[in-house]
Amino acid sequence: MSAAKFDQIGQVLREHQRFAVFSHVRPDGDALGSQLALGLSLKKLGKDVRIWNDEGMLEKYNFLPEADLLTKPPAEPEDVDVVVALDTAIQNRLGTTVGAIKSAKIWINIDHHPSNPGYGDLNYIDPRAPATGQILFELIKDQNLPIDRAIAENLYVAISTDTGSFQYPNTTARTFEIAAELVEAGVDVGRISQLTYENYPRRRVELLRELLGTMRFNAANRIASFSLTLASAKKLAVLPEDNEGLIDHLRAIQGVIVAIFFEELADGKVRVSMRSKSDKVNVCAICEKFGGGGHVLAAGARVKGTLAEVEKKILEEACDVVSRVS
Ligand code: 5GP
Ligand code: MN
Repeated sequence: MSAAKFDQIGQVLREHQRFAVFSHVRPDGDALGSQLALGLSLKKLGKDVRIWNDEGMLEKYNFLPEADLLTKPPAEPEDVDVVVALDTAIQNRLGTTVGAIKSAKIWINIDHHPSNPGYGDLNYIDPRAPATGQILFELIKDQNLPIDRAIAENLYVAISTDTGSFQYPNTTARTFEIAAELVEAGVDVGRISQLTYENYPRRRVELLRELLGTMRFNAANRIASFSLTLASAKKLAVLPEDNEGLIDHLRAIQGVIVAIFFEELADGKVRVSMRSKSDKVNVCAICEKFGGGGHVLAAGARVKGTLAEVEKKILEEACDVVSRVS
């Protein structure tokens, strides 16, 4: 991606006053960390900034520096100059935030999803970047935008969570260089890592126990999956955010290539979350067949039907794909 694009984006950021910084529904660490990092940097530039997410701040990411600045969108729509959408592959995954904008002069779209069609007036899509937080770091450096410890910690969480703690294959030498620079900018690695990975509510582990009780294997043990019914979610009083990362327990099993998590939703759909351990199995392509999307090794979809129907359809398709891989 060209540095000229950063110049254009930097110019728009400097020349306007009222900003809204958005990200996707069911936000993850990259979404929330990126929103806060850019929002804080703009605030340091003296801008008037709204940082809204469909779900507001999640309890599990409440530790992010200045987390209180990230809220649900207001009921009454507002006028802004610039909307910045972060980490969001398609505009409708911005959820209710879009309706809270009465007017905006410019939409900027910064993302790393390969399927992003470029719905902004200014688009910076880099599918090779492991996290939107990594792109933001490059933008901040390139354009000399403010960075401080709070911004650095938000970027660090964004990058750490989207790379599975610097382990996924999308992690590059540049990712480690950026991590080093963030540590130099003040990130307390031990404290932030503990808050990110060793601070789960007990109900999340109860949920894991429930899910492991439903675990099954297909395609000669190369596909592992588990499911969450609405009834179990209710019984355990889990929040949607509690299941982020639990699928990694399936991916971590020796011999498993594809991990799948099925979550029954209240709207007659099933949320499907998929991970692949082999670049020969593109789970994004599987999810796209069912109206979803994502990355080659991590993708998802929301599929209409009962849990049993969706499990059957998806497992059939996944088995078909996996059977073609040696
Ligand atoms: P997760 O499984 O963690 O929910 O999502 C993994 C990846 O797939 C993320 O990059 C996310 O953006 C994408 N993804 C998840 N669900 C959907 C969906 O319903 N539609 C699309 N287009 N992408 C999704
Ligand atoms: Mn991301």
